[in-house]
Amino acid sequence: MKITEIHIYRHELPVMNGPYKLALADVWSLSTTLVKLVADNGLIGWGETCPVGPTYAESHADGAVAALSVMATGLLGTEVLPVPLHRRMDALLTGHNYAKAAIDIAAHDLLGKHLGVSVSDLLGGAVTDSVPSYYSTVIGTPDETARIAAEKRAEGYPRLQVKVGGRAVEEDIEILHKVWEVIRGSGMRLAADGNRSLTTRDALRLSRECLHIPFIMEQPCNTIEDLQKIRPQVSHGIYMDENGVNLNTAITAAGTGLVDGFGMKVTRIGGLHPMRAFRDICAARNLPHTCDDSWGGDIIAAACTHIGATVAPELLEGVWLAEPYNAGHYDPENGIRIEGGYIKRPQGPGLGVLPDEALFGAPVASY
Ligand SMILES: [Mg+2]
Repeated sequence: MKITEIHIYRHELPVMNGPYKLALADVWSLSTTLVKLVADNGLIGWGETCPVGPTYAESHADGAVAALSVMATGLLGTEVLPVPLHRRMDALLTGHNYAKAAIDIAAHDLLGKHLGVSVSDLLGGAVTDSVPSYYSTVIGTPDETARIAAEKRAEGYPRLQVKVGGRAVEEDIEILHKVWEVIRGSGMRLAADGNRSLTTRDALRLSRECLHIPFIMEQPCNTIEDLQKIRPQVSHGIYMDENGVNLNTAITAAGTGLVDGFGMKVTRIGGLHPMRAFRDICAARNLPHTCDDSWGGDIIAAACTHIGATVAPELLEGVWLAEPYNAGHYDPENGIRIEGGYIKRPQGPGLGVLPDEALFGAPVASY
């Protein structure tokens, strides 16, 4: 099965009840990029990539379209199998994992449909049909964040991530204390995500003044060097998120004991094929991790849910989706939804979601 056509679409996803407020960015609306691959047997596969604006990571929406355009012509005629496909993409363009991820996801969708199996089967096999998610609070006041924590605990979420940073560290410390009062004893796990924003000074203080609260510190500071610096001094586990830009970085972080786990984005690492290797490396070192969107709709949500379903349950920290912030679904019937803090694994061959193509309008480019 070979690729015969590639179509690229842009689609706007306004943030419901926005903005989605991170330490270093306010996000009101996201531009997602969709890829439709057509194979020589007539089958169609869908992929998606959606950076959370231009400052969350070294990626942005216009960059996704540009990178896909650089690769597209050279991908025509390529076999729809992950190994030759990734080698071909790497031969055509260095880096730009987030754009390659859209092709990778579409190829997995195609391959699944061709073989009559789900994407989770292609990735080694699902171990659950009910995949845990987690809720992420935006930067807010202590009382508002505690209220949300109580609400999400009652809804059944197994994990809560509290965004910290971008303000006085005293406020972050107060928030973590208030949230812990609300969720203590519930079994709900807790993460404090700095999204790279804390100084090492404030990260150390945050850990020191919350000694009794068992959260993990997710990407508290900006660089790997910052993480190396605070690592011997903090009492909390450290997870790498934004610094884990590729498999090589993740291997070093896992192998040197720099971190206790990862927040990992399927698009950042380059798609489901490298994500599968990442999953197995983490399993070998007994490191928990997430399998997340950065943002996006039903296509990327389905991809994250399929890989999440294959992770050893004791190592899966959850699958975060932008779904609660999206106004609708690409696939009204089988769209990916979080209910009671869990996501039902999509059924059917490939990704198990069929987008209503009319939503996306005309392609911005076709090859
Ligand atoms: Mg994070």
